[in-house]
Amino acid sequence: MVSRIVGIFRRSDVDPDCKEVRESSSDFIDGELDESVASKISGHLARCGPCTTFIQTLRATVGLLRSTPKEKAPPDFAERLKKRIEEG
Ligand SMILES: [Zn+2]
Repeated sequence: MVSRIVGIFRRSDVDPDCKEVRESSSDFIDGELDESVASKISGHLARCGPCTTFIQTLRATVGLLRSTPKEKAPPDFAERLKKRIEEG
């Protein structure tokens, strides 16, 4: 799910460190990375504005999805979102 969102943001013109951050970002947000990898990414974020923005945007998007009360979302919200993400 999160990796599909990452794909929307992924670009090919980033440097290798940025690419690694973006490829690992969903696991980073989920806290599923090895500590060594996570700390490397944290270090990169400290000096890279675009990646910081990327992670913040992704985290906000994921948080929004997770915190949206089902009863307040339109009945077809999840389906439409899923379709939209799959269509890229
Ligand atoms: Zn970067």
